[in-house]
Amino acid sequence: MKVNMKLFYNLQEIILVCKKDELNLREGEKMERYKVSNECVGCRACVSVAENNFGIKNSLAYVKKQPLTKEEESLCQNALKVCPVNAISKVDEINQANVVVTSSNTEGLSWDKKKEGFYVIDAREINHDPFDVIMKKAYEIKEDDGFVLIQRFEPYPIINMLSEMGFKYETVKKSNDEFRIYFYKKLNDKVEEQKNNSKVDVVIQSATPVAHPVIMKLLQSERIKKAINIKELKVWKDTEKHLAWITNRKADISFSAIITAAKLKNSDIKIPALFVWDNFVLLSRKKIKGFEDLVGEKIYAPLFEEAPPAKITKYLIKASGLNPDDFNFVYGKPFGRPEQIYKDFVEHKADNVILREPEASYAIKIMQDRKEDISVISYNKLWNKVNPGFGMFPNAGVIFKGEFVKEHPNIAKMFTEELKKAIEWIKNNRQEAVKLSFDVMQQPENRVELFLNRVNFQYIEGNQLVEKVKQYFDILNKNGIADVKIDKEFIEMFKLGV
Ligand code: SF4
Repeated sequence: MKVNMKLFYNLQEIILVCKKDELNLREGEKMERYKVSNECVGCRACVSVAENNFGIKNSLAYVKKQPLTKEEESLCQNALKVCPVNAISKVDEINQANVVVTSSNTEGLSWDKKKEGFYVIDAREINHDPFDVIMKKAYEIKEDDGFVLIQRFEPYPIINMLSEMGFKYETVKKSNDEFRIYFYKKLNDKVEEQKNNSKVDVVIQSATPVAHPVIMKLLQSERIKKAINIKELKVWKDTEKHLAWITNRKADISFSAIITAAKLKNSDIKIPALFVWDNFVLLSRKKIKGFEDLVGEKIYAPLFEEAPPAKITKYLIKASGLNPDDFNFVYGKPFGRPEQIYKDFVEHKADNVILREPEASYAIKIMQDRKEDISVISYNKLWNKVNPGFGMFPNAGVIFKGEFVKEHPNIAKMFTEELKKAIEWIKNNRQEAVKLSFDVMQQPENRVELFLNRVNFQYIEGNQLVEKVKQYFDILNKNGIADVKIDKEFIEMFKLGV
């Protein structure tokens, strides 16, 4: 169905005016207006306090109706107070004087009429990471056309990224919590077109949010911009499908967990560098020193029983002299998703959870803000207790389709060099890295800051990498966690070979 966007906007404005009139008519005085931020953890407390005004959609609260009477306003005020994560706040009145262009790079471009017909992406209505949706639209948009992104804040990382991809933009602040960013794909001139034609088309995918800040930094690399035309940047929420994408070369470069990627040993892939280490923790509401204090308790684990996180956990339990059958592991249906597990933990629905980064840091930060004590046990500590002297253990890295490396060896090499620089930059510029990635990660800056301070980013390649993964898979194989033969092909997989 084709929607006349201008008519749509006019209708929106009429509805807004009518709603305002309704408020004034009923009460003859100004009522407060409320909003729910994406920090909501879906605990339903607001709904039970003010059921006429708050509802739950896709596990998150939303304002069903702004208060129309004093009684409703008082209930909304109570909902604001009971919200455990301060996700409810009052909305500043829309003040036309605030409707300003806050930033733009459109000098000399006349597009005022055109932009009113742009496709609309309202990120406030999207209950998952909007990054994927925005990138998909950015790649689809033809020259001399554009789209408008509506967000609660000015999303600098997305603006920077799309500017680098050749988009012109203009940000209009409609109110304190409504920014409209108009993105326009300008017509390429002939020289620019020829330059783009000499670039290599590449599809990049990520199956792990831990890599988001790294990807954002890579997209700023001048060398990458000159050599690569990013045809698609796919960020998976349901990570299962990404293996198929790299196997059948729908993707050329991937960011994935090593245990999963190593299953593709015979599918022509290269894993020349790992950069995420020690990525799991055990969080408990109880004061614990380790698994020995959780015998008989429920432990919520990511993915499913046969997946590496649960298998490694059971191995660590067994190796420390305990019986895994004495614990009650709980898995989500069909999978335990980390995003759900961390929400269950902060909502007191789960007392003991196994989490990866970045969700572990999000949960820790929420609990710190609430001044609720929790135990945080690092898997590095547990791993080294049963494997003394092992040091950090591998988690995720960069994967290339072998065919891509053969066709473009210099680009593959350049990409790994830029990856190494990106990791070093993040380690030395954590505050800037927060600014670069927080809206892509759909979290407040302070949670992303904690994540970047906790995560173990180390770029490891070459012989050091080969030795480490051999040691690691040797332990995994011996303990039935993996079944990957450590032979010549296995070792070659960790070398770029260019
Ligand atoms: S977290 Fe806050 S906004 Fe979300 S459902 Fe609970 S009380 Fe409502």
